[in-house]
Amino acid sequence: MQIVNNISDVRKIIKQWQREGLSVGFVPTMGYLHEGHASLIEAANKENAKVVVSIFVNPIQFGPKEDLDKYPRDLERDSKIVETSGGDLIFNPSPSEMYTEDFSSFVEVNSLTDGLCGAKRPGHFKGVCTVVTKLFNIVTPDKAYFGEKDAQQLAVIKKMVRDLNIPVEIIGCPIIRENDGLAKSSRNVYLNSEERAAALVLSKSLEKAKEALKSGERSSEKIRDIIMGTLSSEPLAQIDYVEIVDSISLTSIDYIENSILIAIAVFIGKTRLIDNFTFKL
Ligand code: AMP
Repeated sequence: MQIVNNISDVRKIIKQWQREGLSVGFVPTMGYLHEGHASLIEAANKENAKVVVSIFVNPIQFGPKEDLDKYPRDLERDSKIVETSGGDLIFNPSPSEMYTEDFSSFVEVNSLTDGLCGAKRPGHFKGVCTVVTKLFNIVTPDKAYFGEKDAQQLAVIKKMVRDLNIPVEIIGCPIIRENDGLAKSSRNVYLNSEERAAALVLSKSLEKAKEALKSGERSSEKIRDIIMGTLSSEPLAQIDYVEIVDSISLTSIDYIENSILIAIAVFIGKTRLIDNFTFKL
């Protein structure tokens, strides 16, 4: 397993693999890896001859008041996880390697980014789409793996690849959770023990919604009330959004009849956590 910091070296290594006829799977991450990331690397390892993992805390996808500076970083620990999960190469560029001083080109996906995290984090998806496009151009993978944990991101990347004819297959992978239900996230490290206990309210509220859907409830408003009621019962939780949307268009729906995405974002103390599930009829 090798760690490479610059774009031209990464290109050389991957071009050589491709000359040898080896397929390349790619897992873009911001590092501080956990079992969620490991599951993407393992999936990539099963389906490709070589696996590239990028570790890059992308400054342009963070808002001015967000956690760019304190985002957790630990390359040594990350390399062990990449190696044991079956990764072959870590691409770990510096911000200046990715963004020259005169950088001025961006990629934007419209409509799908209007709601959910797109509405709450202006410019976030522009930053994500730009960096993912750059990473795709550098790594030129056959397949790229993204977690359903970031459901809107997965939908946006799929759309971008389709709209811009980027020759890569996007594979979505299921959410990996802690034993008690909390979705794994690099940001969970910010939570103190009281907040960690309070954070369970996200998955609990979604479980309640799932039960109501299974017993036949089809009104978005009622499902939303169930989620909001559970979240509001936790004093440390501050709701950012609770949305029930069509799982393809990500537009709000009133009556549940097709495949829907229920997505929530909640501040636990100062830490913003997201969770979701897709329900198909
Ligand atoms: P991040 O490092 O947070 O940018 O995440 C990198 C990739 O890992 C994204 O595609 C995420 O959706 C995915 N990911 C993060 N957490 C999880 C999780 N708990 N389960 C599955 N995938 C995840």
